[in-house]
Amino acid sequence: MKKTLKQGYEEHLARYNELMKSPMSLPFARPGLFYQKPFRMFGNLYYVGDKFVCAHLVDTGDGLLLFDSVNTGQGGMLINAIWEIGFNPRDIKWIIHSHGHLDHIGQAQFMKDMFGCNLYIGAPDAKMFRERPELSAIQESSNRFDMLWEPDGEIYDGDVLTFGKTTISFVITPGHTDGVLSCFFDVTDGKETKRAGYFGGFGFNTLQKDYLIEIGDPELKNREIYLDSLAKVREEHVDIFMANHPNNDDMLKKYEYMLAHPGENPFVDDKAWGRYLDRKRDDLLKMMEEEGKAETK
Ligand SMILES: [Zn+2]
Repeated sequence: MKKTLKQGYEEHLARYNELMKSPMSLPFARPGLFYQKPFRMFGNLYYVGDKFVCAHLVDTGDGLLLFDSVNTGQGGMLINAIWEIGFNPRDIKWIIHSHGHLDHIGQAQFMKDMFGCNLYIGAPDAKMFRERPELSAIQESSNRFDMLWEPDGEIYDGDVLTFGKTTISFVITPGHTDGVLSCFFDVTDGKETKRAGYFGGFGFNTLQKDYLIEIGDPELKNREIYLDSLAKVREEHVDIFMANHPNNDDMLKKYEYMLAHPGENPFVDDKAWGRYLDRKRDDLLKMMEEEGKAETK
């Protein structure tokens, strides 16, 4: 029997109420509450993400490059941020994705359809899209029509690729997903050059025991892989740490500091990279230790 309009609405309402029980739902339900004014971090590197998930724009001098296409449901915010900081979204030629989770890849297809951007992602996460799409969590999208997309380019460990006038060295740093990309490249402000570093996925949500068992890693090997990845890039020289979510190394506090102290730039800090990577290592080791203690009780 055909569903009535009223039944359809009631199903919608029940699903909404169920979804809203999760603390992670608010950025999907009310993205505007997470608005962040875009800003210049240093020279040709800009922040165009929101208060929940990062996006960075690089003016390469020959086309715009975007890191991450933000959460599903936040296309309007991304477009607004790009305009608000003084660029035209039509000039974005490339989007490099830090990893293949829905909150980082959400607007990729839209950006491609609208502006013809070429989409890049680490090769292991491109494989995940094809073979284990459920690990992208796209099914948690706020838009039931959201789907995964076909990358234009897959990035491998050790690749060095040039986008416009910006050359980026890539390291695959698995753990959070198999294809987490870490990126290193120069940014310039007049005659001054600094090296930016981006570790593309820190969250422990995919290192929880139940999660790892479900995805077929009962020995929890992904935790060791994550720690190895941190060690693999720990000694890179990085002047400017790029966060993957704003809570990484208190990114928005640095922004507020910058507003309050004109002439100073807290984003230029060659200790931030090592400090934050070490913190994640210590936090994970602590989580593992506490889990071990709880089990032997
Ligand atoms: Zn993620």
